Amino acid sequence: MLDLKIMVQKYGGTSVGTADRIKAVAERIKRYTEKGFSVVVVVSAMGKTTDELIALASQLTRNPSGREMDMLLSTGEQVSISLLAMALHEIGIDAISYTGSQIRVLTDGNFSRAKIESISTDRIVKSLREKKVVIVAGFQGVDDEENITTLGRGGSDTSAVALAAVLGTRDCEIYTDVNGVYTADPRIIAQPAKLKEISYDEMLELARLGAAVLHSRSVEFAKKYNVRLHVRSSFNYEEGTIVMPKEEMMEKFVISGVTAKRDEAKITIRDIPDKPGIAARLFTLMGENRVYVNMIVQSTGKDNRASISLTVLKSDLDKALKLCETMRKDLGASSVESKVDIAIVSAVGVGMLSSYGVAGKIFQVLSEHNVNIEMISTSEIGISCVIDDMYAELAQKALHKIFIESEQK
Ligand code: ASP
Ligand code: MG
Repeated sequence: MLDLKIMVQKYGGTSVGTADRIKAVAERIKRYTEKGFSVVVVVSAMGKTTDELIALASQLTRNPSGREMDMLLSTGEQVSISLLAMALHEIGIDAISYTGSQIRVLTDGNFSRAKIESISTDRIVKSLREKKVVIVAGFQGVDDEENITTLGRGGSDTSAVALAAVLGTRDCEIYTDVNGVYTADPRIIAQPAKLKEISYDEMLELARLGAAVLHSRSVEFAKKYNVRLHVRSSFNYEEGTIVMPKEEMMEKFVISGVTAKRDEAKITIRDIPDKPGIAARLFTLMGENRVYVNMIVQSTGKDNRASISLTVLKSDLDKALKLCETMRKDLGASSVESKVDIAIVSAVGVGMLSSYGVAGKIFQVLSEHNVNIEMISTSEIGISCVIDDMYAELAQKALHKIFIESEQK
């Protein structure tokens, strides 16, 4: 599109956590300018700044105004962009920092979870033509009334991908403190493998099922605008993982990641009437009360009675139980039970689309370890089982061993 060779890079909080880290980032950017790239850099707030700002606000109020909270949080990124510009100047690289509002990152007015509507490239391109490195504050934008907005925690990834999209660049580097995307959580599996490639859909599915590496909206954007994301470490020069369209992947694993979600609880309502409209009433009620429901399983009815199990976030459990109790009374169901100690263990992979017997093999592995499956749900590229939380680690280890350690050799 443009005659410039543009590289968009995003550096997360740890990558710019100290003055020394900022210097290291400046050196890395310098290398790219020497290779002839026009570099656009998106940065997050330094280290734990955003958490600290939130904690500070909470000392003053339990109910901060959305507008003022975004005003506050956006300052974190303003610190890191200006410092990075100074670090670049120090090593002889011309650079200029911009806030979201200065480059017109226009968003809707939903404070703390604003969505980007458009970004103007004029000022960025002008600065790039002046041979400047352009440094943009991630995570922030401005609404049509000039209020500062933020995109939700971790939103700088989305800022970077949106910039790559509007600048028409195919590749976007996301620098973090890990070497890429792994097949499992290294706190649980001693040596998970680093994936060379992963598809957008697998990344989204893994994030939904508990393993978030990137801000999910950034992956949705990348998919929509066909931007390849290179997730890599700012602490070394190793190649990381490329998040890309599945059609372009060289190797498609049946299972490319194993994960567990341990922040949900299970509710079962027994003996509800097996007739049209019951599920509709129950889940409409949940929705109206803003309870996020993840898995839903209904048993086949017998004697005109059925039972429904669902999972909700543990933080919503009390609210959800009250709603279910109301429904139980209305419908004459026999009981509402809940279980907090559950884990949703999942296996995700695009290779599932073209293989047989994956579900059977997963259930077999779990049964060999005497793990009882309480609920099952599947998507095109994922299989999830609710099990007792006690077995969460064991199940992940067993699945990783069978599907990944033995197959990705
Ligand atoms: N600083 C923000 C946060 O901590 C945005 C980001 O890091 O991407 O959530
Ligand atoms: Mg961060």
